[in-house]
Parts: sequence; structure tokens; C-alpha cells
Amino acid sequence: MKVYAAYYDNKIRLNSSSGGVFSRIASKFDVVYGVALTADCYGCEFVRIEGDISSIRGSKYLQAKVGESFKSVKKDLLNGKSVLFSGTGCQINGLSLFLGKEYPNLFLLDVICHGVPSPKLWKEYVEYQEKKYGKVESVNFRCKDESWQNFGMKENHLYIPRIKDPFMTFFLSDLSLRPSCYACQAKNTRMSDMTIADFWGIEEIAPEMDDGKGTSLIITRTNKGQNLFDSIEMDLRWKEVNYEDGVRHNVSEFSSVAMPQQRDSFFTDMNSMSFKSLSNKYIYGPLWKRIGRKIKHTMQYTISNPGGGQRVNNADYGLLFVFNCEE
Ligand SMILES: Cc1cc2nc3c(=O)[nH]c(=O)nc-3n(C[C@H](O)[C@H](O)[C@H](O)COP(=O)(O)OP(=O)(O)OC[C@H]3O[C@@H](n4cnc5c(N)ncnc54)[C@H](O)[C@@H]3O)c2cc1C
Ligand code: SF4
Repeated sequence: MKVYAAYYDNKIRLNSSSGGVFSRIASKFDVVYGVALTADCYGCEFVRIEGDISSIRGSKYLQAKVGESFKSVKKDLLNGKSVLFSGTGCQINGLSLFLGKEYPNLFLLDVICHGVPSPKLWKEYVEYQEKKYGKVESVNFRCKDESWQNFGMKENHLYIPRIKDPFMTFFLSDLSLRPSCYACQAKNTRMSDMTIADFWGIEEIAPEMDDGKGTSLIITRTNKGQNLFDSIEMDLRWKEVNYEDGVRHNVSEFSSVAMPQQRDSFFTDMNSMSFKSLSNKYIYGPLWKRIGRKIKHTMQYTISNPGGGQRVNNADYGLLFVFNCEE
């Protein structure tokens, strides 16, 4: 196993969640499976791509539908295609178990994963925004465009800093995750060839690799993973670090989040309350003090704004919604 801080081409990096290394990895394969938003933006799903991977670039912070993708991967493998399958650890393990044997032409890539929020909650959130602004056409969960600093709407675009976004608040306070994320088996048994993640704490571990635009953590877990890294390293800016430093601020590599006391009541309420009432109860109401402490902890490496209004840290991001206001 080797561990690296790395980032790729600046233009691609700005449209990626962290250092954009996923896009460089993907370009090595005939067929790539990854997660895209559905056309109506109410959910996300695995898609099969030969060519332009822009729809699967960037994290979508909700549970993705696997659909028929495992069967489709098998078909591609049997047809001799080189295949990259990328997703959360449990999805990678699910595919491995489905296939039941190793394929030399399959590469398994997972992300360090803190958990996936409920797709139902996401749909309700999108519908809530649509009532106010019109049909949602696209969403960038990690907008890095520095022209957006604070909550605002211009030309059909709505930017919400993540600390002000109710969906992200539910996600980062661990209220809205699916049950298995609180006891994640994929953290004990990893079947991937390589893992990618945000390099949290890069400003402390390797400041020369931190320019505020996003740095990825790469962990090679098999020879296949190491060979792939060796074949792309000339196109990346990178530095090797030891495992302890790499994951020091990324506990999701090895531990599951604790289930908040209010998680069950949150899901019960989600099934009967409007999104606005749910937010009023769990974010703006008396429960906020306790949940807010958890958010503050999660963000201790991320709220860094010495530039006076300039967004200087990759983690200091927000969601960007694009609406079709003509409907
Ligand atoms: C639900 C979720 C939770 C995460 N939690 C953490 C965390 O706790 N700590 C951390 O360091 N990093 C986490 N990440 C990973 C991080 O957000 C970046 O995806 C990762 O660093 C790769 O970034 P990149 O810039 O190289 O490429 P990007 O282009 O940003 O990454 C795209 C990759 O993400 C996959 N992806 C996107 N959405 C989903 C989804 N809903 N389900 C499965 N796969 C998806 C794509 O298939 C593709 O492989 C999480 C990602 C997701 C999707
Ligand atoms: S935390 Fe574990 S169980 Fe939950 S989505 Fe991530 S890998 Fe799967």
C-alpha cells in the first residue's frame, strides 16, 4: 500500500470534488461506470460511459441506484473491454461479490465515504427549491467558482454555502444517512484496487500541495492499483506521504459515524413533514445547538478565510443550482 497527495489539470480540478484525479484515472479505460444525477435531478444512478465522463465527475452526496450496472459490467468484461467501476466501498464490495472472481480487465475504485444521505430527502429538497425558483436543471454539490461567496441568486443560478444549506447540514450532522452507514462493513473489508478521497489536513501535512483548489488523497491497495498510479503519475502533481498522515484527518477511512439520538425521529418526521417544517424543527429549532456542535467539529479544518472574502480552502464550498425559470 502506498499513499499520495495528488492533483490533476486545473480546469478539470475546478469541476471535480477534490484534486480531480478521478478524471485522469478514468481516461485509461474503455468503459467507465460512475454516478450521475438523473435527468430530473431528483436522484442519482450508476451510468455506463464510453467517452465523455463529465456527467460522473464530482460527488453527488446521496445514495445512488445501482440498477442493472453489475450485470452490464460483467457483459463488458466478458467482451474483453477494460472497465473502471467507481463508487462507495459497499458498492465496490457488492460488485466483487456479484462477479465472484477476479477479472484482469476490471479496476475497482472506491471513495472514502462518510455515508450516503436518503434519496427521498434529496428529492424533497429539490422540490422545495423548485417551488421557489422553477425547474432544477443541474446541481453542482461542490461548486468551486470563486465568484460565488455568499448565498445568492443570479441569472437562474442559486449558490448556497454548505454551512447554510439545510440538506448538507442534515448530511454533515449524520442525521440523514442510511442505516448501514453507522456500522459500515466496507471499512473492515476493502475490495478496491485504489481509494480516492479529499486530502483533509493537507495544509498541515504537505502545505506545498495545497493551493486551495483541491487536493486528492490516493491509496493504492493492490498491485493493479499501484501499476495504475505509476502509469499516470507523470500527469499529476503528487507527493508520497505515510498512511497515518494521509488519513489523520479523515476518520471515515476506518471508522463509521455514530448514529445521532434524533436519527429515528428525523426519519419518522421526514415521512410526514414538509422539507421546510423538517428544517425548522431540526436546524433552526432547539435541537440545533447539539447538531451544530457536530457540524463545527466536522468543519474545524475547513473554515479558513484569512484572505478576507476570498474562498481559499477547497472545503469552503457550496451547492450551485441551475434553474429553468421559463417553465
Ligand atoms: C457520498 C459520498 C461521500 C463521501 N465522503 C467522503 C469522506 O467522508 N471523506 C473524503 O475524503 N471523501 C469523501 N468522498 C469523496 C470525495 O467527495 C471525492 O469524490 C473524491 O475525493 C474524488 O474526487 P476527485 O476530485 O478525484 O474526482 P470527482 O470527479 O469529484 O469524483 C467522482 C467520483 O465520485 C463518484 N461518485 C459521485 N457521486 C457518487 C455517489 N453518490 N455514490 C457513489 N459514488 C459517487 C463517481 O462515480 C466518481 O468515481 C465522498 C464521496 C461521496 C460520493
Ligand atoms: S458509509 Fe459504508 S455503508 Fe455507507 S455508503 Fe459509505 S461505504 Fe456504503
